[in-house]
Amino acid sequence: MARVSNFNAGPAGLPLPALERARDELVDFAGTGMSIMEHSHRGKAYSGVHFEAMGLLRELLAVPESHHILFMQGGATQMFAQVPMNFLAPGKSVDYIVTGHWSERAVEEARLVAGIQGGAVRIAASSKEKDGIAYRRLPTPAEIHIDPAAVYAHFTTNNTIFGTQWFAEPDVGSVPLVADVSSDILWRKVDVSKYALMYGGAQKNVGPSGVTIVIVARSMLERARTDIPGPFRFKTFADNDSLYNTPPTFGIYLMRNVLAWIKSVGGLAQIEAWNREKAALLYGAIDAAPDYYGAPVDRSARSVMNVVFRLPTPALDELFVKQAEQAGMVGLKGYRSTGGIRASLYNAVTVADVEKLVAFMKDFAARNPA
Ligand SMILES: *Cc1c(COP(=O)(O)O)cnc(C)c1O
Repeated sequence: MARVSNFNAGPAGLPLPALERARDELVDFAGTGMSIMEHSHRGKAYSGVHFEAMGLLRELLAVPESHHILFMQGGATQMFAQVPMNFLAPGKSVDYIVTGHWSERAVEEARLVAGIQGGAVRIAASSKEKDGIAYRRLPTPAEIHIDPAAVYAHFTTNNTIFGTQWFAEPDVGSVPLVADVSSDILWRKVDVSKYALMYGGAQKNVGPSGVTIVIVARSMLERARTDIPGPFRFKTFADNDSLYNTPPTFGIYLMRNVLAWIKSVGGLAQIEAWNREKAALLYGAIDAAPDYYGAPVDRSARSVMNVVFRLPTPALDELFVKQAEQAGMVGLKGYRSTGGIRASLYNAVTVADVEKLVAFMKDFAARNPA
C-alpha cells in the first residue's frame, strides 16, 4: 500500500490508525451486523460512539464543566453567521480582530446578520498590509482596541492561508472571547476557560469534514437570543446533547477514532511535541536557504500548522509542487490568491513526512539554482 505524505490544508490527512480502525469496523460495527452509519442515532451503538467522542474531547482538551461541547454541522463558515445570530441585537455591538481571509469572512457574515437583527460590528484591530492583500503578522497589543461593552471579541487562532498563529490569546479584558479554531484546535492543550466560545470544522485537525465542534460557556449561552429558529440556537444543541436532530454520525464516529488515537499516543503533550518538532524542521530548512526559500511571515507569528514560503520565481514554485507530487508529497500548492507553497503540518502529518519534505527541498534547490 502506498500512502502519500499529505500536506493538504483541508480537508487534511487523517491518522492512519484511525482510518484502519474505520476499515476494520466498516461493515460490521462491534458485532452488530451493520455499519455505524446504518444505526439509529438514538440507538445504543451510536450513543456509545457519540458520548465517547464527547468524553475524549473533554478529557484531551481538559474542557471544564463550565463549558458545553456541541457537535454541529455547517462548518466554520456557518458559524461566521450563527455566532452573531445568537448574540447580536439592537443596541449591542461585537468586536473582531482581523488577521486574514477567514476573519474577513467572519466580519462579512456578522455585518449581514447585524443588518437583519440590529446591532453593530466593530473592527477592533487589523493586521492587513496598508497597500496589499497580505497579512504577514498579528496586531501588537497596542493596536488592539477592544470596546469594553462588546458582547464578544472574535479572533482567528490560526490563519490557515497566510500562515500566522496566535501563541497567546489577545488581551480583551473582561469581554467574552470567541475564536475560530478551525485550523489549530488540538495542536496543543489550551486553557479553555479563557474562551466564552470556540468553534471549528473538524476537517483539519480532528476528523473528516461535516462535523463542526463548538465549545461554549454555559454563562455565554444564558445571554443568547431565544427568538431565532431552533436549529440555529446553540442552546438547542446544548439542551439535547447534540442529538436534537440527526447528527453527522459517521463523521463523529471517525472523529472518535482520531481522538482515541491521540489519547493512545500520549495525548496533547505528545501531539504538541511532534508539532513543534515538525515546524522546527521545516522552518529550519527555509532559514538555512534564505535566498532560495523565502518565508514572508513575521517570525514571532510563524504558524506551526501552515508553513508558507516561496521559491525565487513562480515557475520554480510550480516545478517544486509538481516534482514533490511525483515523489509522493501532495497538497503543497499555496492558496489560490497568495500563490507560493504552503505545507500544512496538522496532527496527522508525521515527523517522517516532514523529514522527507526537507530532504526534497535541499535536493531541489541544488538541482534548480535560481
Ligand atoms: C478552513 C477554515 C475555515 C472554513 O471552514 P469550513 O468548514 O469550510 O466552513 C474557516 N476558518 C478557518 C480558520 C479555516 O482554516
